[in-house]
Amino acid sequence: MADIIDGKAFAATVREKVAAHVARLKTAGITPGLAVILVGEDPASEVYVRNKGKQTLETGMNSFEHKLPADTPEAEVLTLIKRLNADPAVHGILCQLPVPDHIDESKVINAIAPEKDVDGFHISNVGLLATGQKSMVPCTPLGCLMLLRARHGSLSGLNAVVVGRSNIVGKPMATLLLKDSCTVTIAHSRTRDIEALCKRADILVAAVGRAEMITGDWVKPGATVIDVGINRVAAPERGAGKMRLVGDVDFASASAVAGAITPVPGGVGPMTIACLLANTVTACSRINGLEEPEGLTA
Ligand code: NDP
Repeated sequence: MADIIDGKAFAATVREKVAAHVARLKTAGITPGLAVILVGEDPASEVYVRNKGKQTLETGMNSFEHKLPADTPEAEVLTLIKRLNADPAVHGILCQLPVPDHIDESKVINAIAPEKDVDGFHISNVGLLATGQKSMVPCTPLGCLMLLRARHGSLSGLNAVVVGRSNIVGKPMATLLLKDSCTVTIAHSRTRDIEALCKRADILVAAVGRAEMITGDWVKPGATVIDVGINRVAAPERGAGKMRLVGDVDFASASAVAGAITPVPGGVGPMTIACLLANTVTACSRINGLEEPEGLTA
């Protein structure tokens, strides 16, 4: 039976480190601030934004929420970002995705000042990360990397397979693993014989968005499995109309084969918000030319 990687507990230690660094910054007269923009009333996004705001305040930082109606014109969102870029009390800016269809997502992302881009999605940060330079690193892959480093120490020479090639998870995850000297393969919907490929992985990261797609027979005995997926499925055993969360990995069968595995919920999810807080404190330190917190970035 695999060791369970407790992302919830690990995220708490990240938040403690963040809070300690915030306290140091405050003695220098600086309070880090995170601005979150939410356009529209998507219920899942509202929950994320509320959690982000709450945890930001709990670590001693300032939280600025900007909730805009779904029909807000793109130009108005861009104007708000421009204002936040220039605001010295704001060190991190993120726009909760997805945005409504009439707004160009990449325009919004690339309007954020790269040094305040705590999601790490700005084209400059993508380029800096890809070329091995100091950048803001996307939160979910950063959280996965922290869990993997804690489990393995060095990742050098390990065979890593990342299933999924999105800009927010799969691609940056692969870049980070390559930076840590893994031999990296990215799999996607067109990959041939994906099961055999996954079975060669010492590190298997699933970021697909398909409930329990990866089963135990895809997993190399002893491998470390990181399940990024968050899927809501019907749970009739909990009552009519009830739902539960599952990952992209079939936990029951995979945990019988893997050496270590993240559960869903309680694995990667809590790490994502913790890394957002970590990125905010890192951004604040860099913007003010102060020492960065240790162990909170790639
Ligand atoms: P996307 O939908 O953007 O990307 C999914 C990727 O999976 C694509 O590259 C797609 O391939 C690939 N894929 C789809 N079907 C298959 C298949 N049958 N076999 C192999 N590959 C396949 O998703 P995201 O990267 O945004 O998110 C992935 C999952 O992670 C989702 O469940 C999401 O909810 C979750 N998530 C969790 C976070 C957290 O904090 N824990 C944060 C962000 C996301 P192709 O490119 O060929 O279409």
